[in-house]
Amino acid sequence: MGKLVLGCIADDFTGATDLANNLVRAGMRVVQAIGVPEARRAGPPQASARPLGGQRGHEVPSVGAEILPLDADVDAVVVALKSRTITPAEAIAQSLDALRWLQAQGAQQIYFKYCSTFDSTFTGEVRGNIGPVTEALMEALNCDFTIATPAFPDNKRTVFKGYLFAGDVLLNESGMQNHPLTPMTDANLVRVLQAQCTRKVGLIDHTVVARGDAAITERIAQLKGEGVSIAIVDAVSNDDLLRLGPALAKMPLVTAGSGVAIGLPANFGLSPSSQASALPSASGLRAIVSGSCSLATNRQVLDFIQRGGAALAIDPLRIAAGVDVAAEALAWAAPLVARQPVLVYSTAEAGAVKSVQGKLGVEEAGAMVERTIAAIARGLVDQGVRQLVVAGGETSGACVQALGIAQMQIGPQIDPGVPWCHARAEAAKTTDGAGMHIALKSGNFGGDDFFTKAFTVLA
Ligand code: ADP
Repeated sequence: MGKLVLGCIADDFTGATDLANNLVRAGMRVVQAIGVPEARRAGPPQASARPLGGQRGHEVPSVGAEILPLDADVDAVVVALKSRTITPAEAIAQSLDALRWLQAQGAQQIYFKYCSTFDSTFTGEVRGNIGPVTEALMEALNCDFTIATPAFPDNKRTVFKGYLFAGDVLLNESGMQNHPLTPMTDANLVRVLQAQCTRKVGLIDHTVVARGDAAITERIAQLKGEGVSIAIVDAVSNDDLLRLGPALAKMPLVTAGSGVAIGLPANFGLSPSSQASALPSASGLRAIVSGSCSLATNRQVLDFIQRGGAALAIDPLRIAAGVDVAAEALAWAAPLVARQPVLVYSTAEAGAVKSVQGKLGVEEAGAMVERTIAAIARGLVDQGVRQLVVAGGETSGACVQALGIAQMQIGPQIDPGVPWCHARAEAAKTTDGAGMHIALKSGNFGGDDFFTKAFTVLA
């Protein structure tokens, strides 16, 4: 080991991919681990990952404490947790578990990644778990100072005078004030984080950031002198994030959204290069499975069909009636997939989804469709598919579990936020021992031609 420089802990699955994608684009070779990698104590060696907390229906029993090593020789690894909306105690336990694994891999610096809207569990007494997790990581790392900034200007999240903006409005006017699980009613991040922390929270404002590394370092020393341990940092542009990067070089822990990632690889002598996103060459058959009903995915399915693509819709009501829809879909795909990419989708427009949910229940319909699509993904890989696009966040979680994928190396970006990934042979549990390429697209990501464009990126 010893090669790994940055170890990241992300509080959700798509957030992990977002961070990994930014690191790759800034010049790092990155692996994303699904949950904390863990080998089994007994039985034959096989890939396994602790189940993602709260994810329904696709859990792998966790039995061992043996450390599973990294799949590839990389600069950074991102452990994807699902800790954003769980209790602080659970989030701390999962994050410390991830930290221990990252330390065992030799990580020199730790990056705790949260959402660019800075939201997390908010119920009753709990004012969020970003603060508690940050403090637990500081304690474990013996770290007396860290920063916190969700700024991600590429995604229109900026921090000015400690206030978080989403687009042109303050966070608490952006709709986030009404979020059903994690409402954000205050845009002042110093106040928000202070309410979650026992340590003192301060601010490094844009006048300091604008003056660069030396000014930021000086401000940190000043804040430490005032008893501050965590500083919110202003950033309204990528230039601000790039100026911030060098000042973070010696911090054992950085906490941020995915934006700060663009300024870190340079600290390790790395710069953007096509090498960072290089994956093993792609081979095998091509397929798309889609369980996303988001507007963008609906457009992408339509676009694929209009271009003459081979597509099959699956009907949740037939699954509920006991029909083996997965077997039907696989029988349909078998003769076609040898010649061209196939698409199997449950994607439907809002009205149709509501009607199904009304008959089956929201949870039940979702879980049933996820299980079916995961079984189809598994079957397609058994038929020889080695380039698989999955549409839908929850759907991706189900498919990754069904395919036994515990780690993925991050490759070239297809559209913003969605890279191709490569999973090693054992991890993918493929029948012929070859690894596979997989792209996980969350709902509203990707242009209309995404399902066609994806395969051209690998060609
Ligand atoms: P997204 O990223 O677009 O939100 P997800 O996969 O996270 O997509 O969520 C979509 C949810 O909708 C999943 O639980 C999926 O099983 C469910 N679903 C998919 N198709 C249908 C459908 N036709 N009717 C009802 N629910 C569906």
